Amino acid sequence: MNYIDYTDIEFLLIAGAIYLFIAATVAKIGTYRACGGIKAFIISIILTPVIGIIYALISPQKHLIKTVHYRCPNCGLEYVSKHKYCPSCAKEEKYCRLVKVSMKTY
Ligand SMILES: [Zn+2]
Repeated sequence: MNYIDYTDIEFLLIAGAIYLFIAATVAKIGTYRACGGIKAFIISIILTPVIGIIYALISPQKHLIKTVHYRCPNCGLEYVSKHKYCPSCAKEEKYCRLVKVSMKTY
């Protein structure tokens, strides 16, 4: 009767964990690409991460523009540059701190 070799199971678990970790890394690369993270992840699982990483890298990069605005909670005006207080409200002697708003556009 054969006995179960636990070292083999442990090895498979570690290998599986590493495999998933690499696939997740590929997925992260994929999120910045046109193919998308989920697609890169699935390809990494099915066709090995080597294929997945090539697939993610040949896929064109997303045009990600990160814009930062500073919005006044009092009057609702938005500023591109940073001010300590809202310049519009400061004229009326109301010192409103601006709220940083960051947006990602593709
Ligand atoms: Zn204001």
